[in-house]
Formats: sequence, C-alpha cells, structure tokens
Amino acid sequence: MERVDKILSGGVVLTMNEAMDLYPNGAVAIHGDSIVAVGPAEDIQRHYAADELVLCSGQIIMPGLVNAHFHSPANHLKGALPSLPLELFMLYESPAAEALRPTPREAYLRTALGVLQMLRGGTTAVQDDAFLMPDPEPAVIDAILQAYADLGIRATVALDQPELPEVAKLPFLEQFAPAELLDELLRPAPMAPGVLLERYEHLISNWHGAADGRLRAAVSISAPQRVSPEYFAALDDLSRRHRLPLFAHLLETRTQRVLAAEQPRFAGRSLVRYTADLGLLSERLNVIHAVWTDEDDLDLIAAAGSVIVHNPVSNLRLGSGVMPFRAARDRGIPIALGVDEAICNDAVDMWSVVRTTGLIHNVTGLDSDRWPSAAEVLDCLWGGGAAAMLRGGELGAVAEGRLADLALLDLHSLAFTPLNGVPGQLVYCETGSSVVLTMVAGRVVYEHGRVTTVDEAQLLGEVREVFARKRRALQAAHADAGRFFPLYQQVVRAASATDVGLTRWVASG
Ligand SMILES: [Zn+2]
Repeated sequence: MERVDKILSGGVVLTMNEAMDLYPNGAVAIHGDSIVAVGPAEDIQRHYAADELVLCSGQIIMPGLVNAHFHSPANHLKGALPSLPLELFMLYESPAAEALRPTPREAYLRTALGVLQMLRGGTTAVQDDAFLMPDPEPAVIDAILQAYADLGIRATVALDQPELPEVAKLPFLEQFAPAELLDELLRPAPMAPGVLLERYEHLISNWHGAADGRLRAAVSISAPQRVSPEYFAALDDLSRRHRLPLFAHLLETRTQRVLAAEQPRFAGRSLVRYTADLGLLSERLNVIHAVWTDEDDLDLIAAAGSVIVHNPVSNLRLGSGVMPFRAARDRGIPIALGVDEAICNDAVDMWSVVRTTGLIHNVTGLDSDRWPSAAEVLDCLWGGGAAAMLRGGELGAVAEGRLADLALLDLHSLAFTPLNGVPGQLVYCETGSSVVLTMVAGRVVYEHGRVTTVDEAQLLGEVREVFARKRRALQAAHADAGRFFPLYQQVVRAASATDVGLTRWVASG
C-alpha cells in the first residue's frame, strides 16, 4: 500500500477530466500539494494508506473555482458606485489622488478582504490585475502578495498601470475638453515605463514562484490604448521569458471600438487587429472582455491561441454588452470566467458569474442549440480558467498529477435537494452557500464555516476601522472626479452615436 497524506473518501467526485468521469462513491488521494489518485472509494482505499482519512459522504468533491480576472484594489468599495458606462465609472473607480495612496497595511487588508470571500465560496485560484494608484510602490506590492501568501489562496498578480496620458485612452476627449481641464488630461501618466519595468523586476524576483509555487507574477498592459507599443512589447518580452500570462482589456466597450476608428495610430483597425499587427497577440495573452469583437477579431484571437476572459456580471453592471460567446466557442477559443472587481460585481463571488454565464447568452436568439450548456459553462470555469493562467495540465480537474485545489459542497443543501444533476445544479442553483471545505495545494483553508488561515473577525474589524477613516478622502476624490463627468458623458454619448457596424446590446422594447 502506498502511503499518502490524505484521502477524501465517499463523496461524489466531479473530475472534469477529459473523459468527464463522475464517481458517485469516489475518493481522492492527496500527497503534498498534489492529487495522487482518483477513483471509486474502495479502489483508492485498497491501494493507499492515509495519515488522515476524511469522510465525505453526502458531499461533492470538485475542482476549486478559478477567478481568472480580478482587481483587488477595489475590494473595499463594493456597492460604492451607481451603475455607469465604464468610461464614466473609471473616473470614480481608481482616482489617482495622493490622499488615497494605500499604506501597505491598507493594501494587505483590502486584498485579504477579497480572499476571504473567495475561499468561503470555494474559489482556490485568482488572477489579480492590480492597479495601484497613483503608482505601484514596492512595499504595497509586497503587502498584496503577503496577503495572498498568508490567506492561502493561489494567486497570479500583475501591475495594471497606464503608461500614456488620459487623452490617448478615449475618442473625442481632446476635441471636446474645455481649456481648464485639458492640461490635466494631457499630463503624462504618473510613472514612466522604465520605472514600471523596475517594479516588475521587483515583483518577479521577490514573488514569482513564492509560497511553494502558489504565488506567481503576470504582466498587464491594462489595455492597448493605454500604453505605447514599446511598453507593450517590453511586457510581452517579460511574459515570454518567464512564461507569464499577459493581461489586456480588449474591446470591453463600444466606445473602445469607436476609439480605434478615431485615432491615427490605429489606422482604422480594431484594437485586436492592432495588437495582432504589433505581433503581440499570443497564446500567453488573456483577452479580457472581448465584448465588442467582430468576426475578424475572433478569427485573429483563435489563430493566436489567446484565451478570452469573460466577466458577464461586470459587463451588465457597466452596460458594456454581451460577449459573443457562441461565435468564440465555435472557433475553439478557450473562455475563462472572472469577477472583474468588487466595485462592479459587487461580490467577489464566482457563483454569480457562473450563473450569469449560463443565462445571459440565452437572450441572443431563439436557437437554443447556440445557448451555453451547463457543461460548457463548467468547462469555461475550470478548463478556461486553467488555460488563462497558463496552467492547463495542473489546475481545473480532479485528476492524477493535478494540484490538490478542491472545493467540497454539501449535497444535502437546498441547492442540491433533491439531486437532479450535478452540472445543472452547480450552474443554475448554487450560490456558494453549499461550500463546506476549500483546499489549496493540499491544505485546508476553509472548513466548518471559517477560514482557517487568519482570524477573520479581527481582520474584518480592522477593515471597518481603517476604511472608515479613508471615507472622507474618497468622497473628496469623487467630488473632484465630478469635474470631468460632463465631458466624459459627452464623449460616451458621441461614441454611442457613432456607427460601429455591430451591436452587443440586447434591443429593449
Ligand atoms: Zn478588469
């Protein structure tokens, strides 16, 4: 008999392996951070002896959820803003006010706040596209990564910093700006590309592969219109050398489609075509959103082998539109799922993203063959999520050799009573409240209703106190951002009146 650390036995094992095996009375043998064997409970118990046998009857054993797109710096701002189009929303989402510069402790706390919610819901891996305003200080980068290290989730973190002035990012902005605002809009971004690359060196040399490989670095251009081709290429080079995912928000909004037609540097090309022509559309690229992509864009994404990261709740909250799910799937493009961020979701909750993915595409037509099936949505959650993280063979399945990132769900909960079919009930019924145990790299991080790695009550108390003190500075920053609101509204309205030859909105009555 082979000796292993742990056996989870007697549960319904949803493997999500290639054969889509489901063991009604299954077991999972775990050693170190990995899964050693999966199969019927009696087979596993015959071949393996465990230091710890965990009985899981009445539970589903499944892969932990993957949150493939997330911005932790907004974790403390859930429900803070009204629904607005992205370009107006961003005025308030991340003002570069000096008074809002986070202390390392604040950065730690807000990161931990999001992780608590993820672990409680069975999310075991996250890709954090962290924007750090006004600029990413090494001590703040360290605080974010330390929070991920301490709480025990698997995290891949990038620095999402713009590198061009504000006028570069939006159509019509320079044209419509009143004289008293133009200087601010023309001002260079807070940090030059050379310093940003130094910060990446800091992130990669200190944290890439830390916590036994649980923490990793990624790189982020934020979006092609927010950076120069040179900075984009420098990040792509880092991505290639270290094999890091490269995050790029691409065609999230209709206004971004208009922008490409307006600015000479894009020469009438869509932002996807522009990226492809730069030679930077690759299999390492996470195409975030892809809502306003057309057929040509999707062909390019498919040919490059990039992954689309779908954030349907965020896309609804900001009125961005509906990503062409079936057109992407038809081309074999992997699709991952993400929360986006707590300020536009407004829960760090993958279950609402899963459910919305299963529903929103049904309003695109009456041919139900083209609607997502529950199995497809789960394939996005796990297969797509692992692909986005460039960890296809390691995450997203309960299978021999995979990392032991698991979620256990109570089959006696209301969502699963009576049991009609696991995939359908996972997608359409579950809210996260059935999760009874979350494991990352073989270590239990949530069990018996509490996160095991930190003192949650103490941490939440400190969050309340610290961010109550920041409220006045936040209100002042929002009031200041309000100076730009009429101008940005004019920009969005002008973009909305410009024909882009396709729609990603659902017509209303
Ligand atoms: Zn985002």
